[in-house]
Amino acid sequence: MEKIASFKVDHSALKPGIYLSRVDGDVITYDIRFVKPNTPPFLSNAVIHTIEHLFASYVRNSPFSGGIIYFGPMGCRTGFYFLTRGISHKDAIWLTKKALDFIAQYSGPIPGAAEKECGNYLEHDLEGAKKAAFAFLKTVKGWDENMLSYP
Ligand code: ZN
Repeated sequence: MEKIASFKVDHSALKPGIYLSRVDGDVITYDIRFVKPNTPPFLSNAVIHTIEHLFASYVRNSPFSGGIIYFGPMGCRTGFYFLTRGISHKDAIWLTKKALDFIAQYSGPIPGAAEKECGNYLEHDLEGAKKAAFAFLKTVKGWDENMLSYP
């Protein structure tokens, strides 16, 4: 099989941050990298799951909701992919930071986390998600559209 593009990224040089993963026509995929690859601790699945619910809920309720294609975790537990359409890089980065800030300060029930709404509704960790979002927010505080290239 041919090696897919995301496996050609040098993961040993990759640091936490926001990167442009790929462009497929008008769909843009961002690499939202919370953890330096192959450097534990990785995000726990419960933390990933809660971030997924909160991030997706936030961006789909934002003024950019029409341009949100997908937000979901990487299997390696070091970050997420965020897919958009018709949103500038600048706005996508701004929206990502806003969503992280929303998660870092969130209290209350996790949206979509009832048994009827979710495939593993008991596996959530709000406190862990808040901590991870807060830490990552510090990392990407000054991130802008000129920093999207993979190292
Ligand atoms: Zn779920």
